[in-house]
Amino acid sequence: MFLPSPWRADFPAIAELQRQGQTYLDSAATAQKPQALIDALTRYYVNGAANVHRAQHMPGMLATQAFEDSRNHVGQWLNAGESGQIIFTHGATSAFNLLAYGLEHEFVADDEIVVSALEHHANLLPWQQLAQRRGLKLIVLPLDANGLIDLAAASQLIGPKTRLLAVSQLSNVLGTWQPLPALLKLAQTHNALTVVDGAQGVVHGRHDVQALGCDFYVFSSHKLYGPDGVGVLYGRHDALARLHHWQFGGEMVLTTDFHQASFRPAPLGFEAGTPPIAGVIGLGATLDYLGSLDQEAVFEHEAALHQLLRDGLRQRDGVHLLGAPQLALASFVVDGVHNADLAHLLTEQGIAVRAGHHCAMPLLQSLDLPGALRVSLGLYNDSEDIQHFFNGLDQALDLLR
Ligand code: PLP
Repeated sequence: MFLPSPWRADFPAIAELQRQGQTYLDSAATAQKPQALIDALTRYYVNGAANVHRAQHMPGMLATQAFEDSRNHVGQWLNAGESGQIIFTHGATSAFNLLAYGLEHEFVADDEIVVSALEHHANLLPWQQLAQRRGLKLIVLPLDANGLIDLAAASQLIGPKTRLLAVSQLSNVLGTWQPLPALLKLAQTHNALTVVDGAQGVVHGRHDVQALGCDFYVFSSHKLYGPDGVGVLYGRHDALARLHHWQFGGEMVLTTDFHQASFRPAPLGFEAGTPPIAGVIGLGATLDYLGSLDQEAVFEHEAALHQLLRDGLRQRDGVHLLGAPQLALASFVVDGVHNADLAHLLTEQGIAVRAGHHCAMPLLQSLDLPGALRVSLGLYNDSEDIQHFFNGLDQALDLLR
């Protein structure tokens, strides 16, 4: 049975990619963009670009208004409420680095930072490097067989020395929702700061950061169908107040002479230099578009496609799924076949999937794998895309085995 996507035509690149013979199944890396975003970018550039927060002239005031409207929109999207704020960065990776440098003064030797075994490098390396700079211990929470952070182990490993917990909401390799409420509670029992990597999670459903109760929540606009070059860092006021400034320059300064300076609080104090103005405005337009969709219908469509994907992979001899993916993506390996060879043959057939370590090298190492293939879905995909993938996979495996 054909499962069409009612939103496919809203994403002009999908038809163009199809014309080029490409089936795009790599949305977890970056998503295609809706016409609503393209229109907003065009409007901004055609009507007159201007810098924000510094110009007294009309184009500057309009740009600042649109930029700040987007900040409010993102705050509403996450239900940041009165108790939190949104800082714009240049991506999720920049946001994690901001946190690791901005919080550095909070740590003394032998303090512990806790991450999990499935973290993306973006939520591992900033903490690993901080641990090296300050002589801290980096504790890694193990996973269970389904690809979930093991709560029994976590309750042993998160303790009085834990000063910060940084974990993913939804794994970019295993496609599993992590047990955040229990993990955050454990960390909070020990007064540790909590950082949630929402880079994949934010794309699926709506998440309420106040209900989640984390101190910080991070995501990248480009995976949420928005422009690239824009990241979001949500922080609770009391947690943001603990950050030291980390990048210095225009916009973030209150007063300075040649020798001394004082700085703005969040958010502007952490947005040094000209921010990605068009991108932030575009993210606001993307959220307008996403907010207009029937969330239930999107959820059901993605779930139906994911089931097709999972079932098809499970039916094929010698194909092994990594963990037990719950939505949006599935990573797999094939007995006796190198993932790079398979990726090459899929690429030749116009199937755009991701191969390799998925920026989670330690996870792949712990599974004793050199790499894996990952198929990931966007709301514009339909069942024909999945059929193309399986046709390509079967042809490739015929050649390789
Ligand atoms: N965290 C997760 C779970 C991701 O999947 C990614 C990107 O793949 C990132 C963080 C980093 O995002 P960016 O490269 O946009 O900074």
